[in-house]
Amino acid sequence: SLKGKVALVTGSTSGIGLAIARAFAAAGCTVMMNGLAEAVVLHKLAGDLAGESGVKVASHPADMTRPAEIADLVATTQATLGSLDILVNNAGIQHVDRIEKFPVEKWDAIIAVNLSASFHTVRAALPAMKQSGWGRIINIASTHGLVASTHKAAYVAAKHGLIGLTKVMGIECADTGVTCNAICPGFVSTPLALAQIETKAKADGIGMDEASHLLIGEKQPQVRFTTVEQIAGLALFLASDTASNMQGTALVSDGGWTAQ
Ligand code: NAD
Repeated sequence: SLKGKVALVTGSTSGIGLAIARAFAAAGCTVMMNGLAEAVVLHKLAGDLAGESGVKVASHPADMTRPAEIADLVATTQATLGSLDILVNNAGIQHVDRIEKFPVEKWDAIIAVNLSASFHTVRAALPAMKQSGWGRIINIASTHGLVASTHKAAYVAAKHGLIGLTKVMGIECADTGVTCNAICPGFVSTPLALAQIETKAKADGIGMDEASHLLIGEKQPQVRFTTVEQIAGLALFLASDTASNMQGTALVSDGGWTAQ
């Protein structure tokens, strides 16, 4: 059981992160939520989750592009919740443009949130995890950590980097009781993916259902979204004892995308 453990989920105000926070709370973990949201919104989300699960839930507004705020997020989790046992690096952003037109500030932001933030959280969290002899680091990567698509230079570079970082973390954590692994979803129905479906629907003058079928069908033989609950289930599995000999690997749920 995960009772007594403390889980920090970055980017947990929406989508996959929110589902993971809910799943860990339901499993009895104390949870630290985080995301880019007004303090009142964060506070309400944490209150709602505490109410529905009966566990303690706190929140912290760290901007994952800012190393000093990330250090404060980790230190605050340890100080106010007692420890940090399960770290889920989930916060992520996307921008779609061909390389020649890709805005430099979008490149920098995507590398910061989708890659560097995980280095900063782990760097801060690992000493106490190793000392306690138990820890779980779960990096939310993507099929784009394994294969490329056009117009996603920063995202693909960041996610490939995150899988590389996961491998280093995994082998550096060997025999410490801490594991580090990644999850690679294909299309998941969240605001991040819906923005791309909206863009396609507008560009082709078609409805959202048709646009999502076309967009997913371009990549996945099984033309349906993975659900946020299914990704949360994989995170719970990686936190369980069943996964204690998994190090530096990536679990894929992508409807066959990367099997081709
Ligand atoms: P989402 O847009 O629903 O949620 C993103 C979360 O990250 C939000 O809580 C947001 O506040 C937070 N965030 C963004 N920038 C931040 C910052 N600077 N500081 C702190 N928090 C920040 O997106 P999602 O689809 O749930 O994505 C979650 C993760 O899953 C991302 O890493 C994404 O790359 C990955 N992923 C998503 C899909 C998909 O199809 N949706 C597929 C593969 C991987």
